[in-house]
Amino acid sequence: MYIRLPKKFTMDSDTTKNVAFIKNKELKIRRGTSFRAVMYEITYRKYGLRCHYCGRYLPKEKITVDHMFPQDFGGPTITNNLIPACKACNNEKNNMTKNEYLAFLTAKKHGKGKEFRREFNKNMKYGQYKIPKSWLTKRSITEITATFDLKENYSKGKLRTIKYFYNTYGILKKPIVVDKNGFLLDGFMLLMFAKTKGIKEIPVIVLDNVEVI
Ligand SMILES: [Zn+2]
Repeated sequence: MYIRLPKKFTMDSDTTKNVAFIKNKELKIRRGTSFRAVMYEITYRKYGLRCHYCGRYLPKEKITVDHMFPQDFGGPTITNNLIPACKACNNEKNNMTKNEYLAFLTAKKHGKGKEFRREFNKNMKYGQYKIPKSWLTKRSITEITATFDLKENYSKGKLRTIKYFYNTYGILKKPIVVDKNGFLLDGFMLLMFAKTKGIKEIPVIVLDNVEVI
């Protein structure tokens, strides 16, 4: 799939210039740069520091990034799935998709927010991806290259959630995200879990206009 990119974009880190930039309509990311940080930065620059849901402007340290398709339903951290939101709206939205939340807000306006939420919670079924099918593909685990530092990327809490999801619902919590060459961008712990569990084929989102250099 192709992620949404601005025409022009460059990003510096504290120590290095141009850790990410756009060239020939492709996003180039230097190895070792946080993919999540790049996705957040593009999202802020595209939409501004303004909550998409209530319209409030916020300073950068107060704004959050909403996953329009929630992470518990497979929502990846890619620009197509991100929108700036204030903490209050983001918390209220919680595990709803953007469209579900907009429907909730309409119901709330008419004094039916509580009923909507009750019905929503009753019908909520974990263990499914709600993202567009066109984003998703499957890859053999051997086709993915990862050079992440285990010390830097290991997270006990994340691993626990991944394990819980897999044992309870039988799926990887989220697809992993790779660049056009199969280089891992996001989902280090998911990949590690799949490897130790002996899962050979995993759900993957391939970004055809992103390259780690
Ligand atoms: Zn808001």
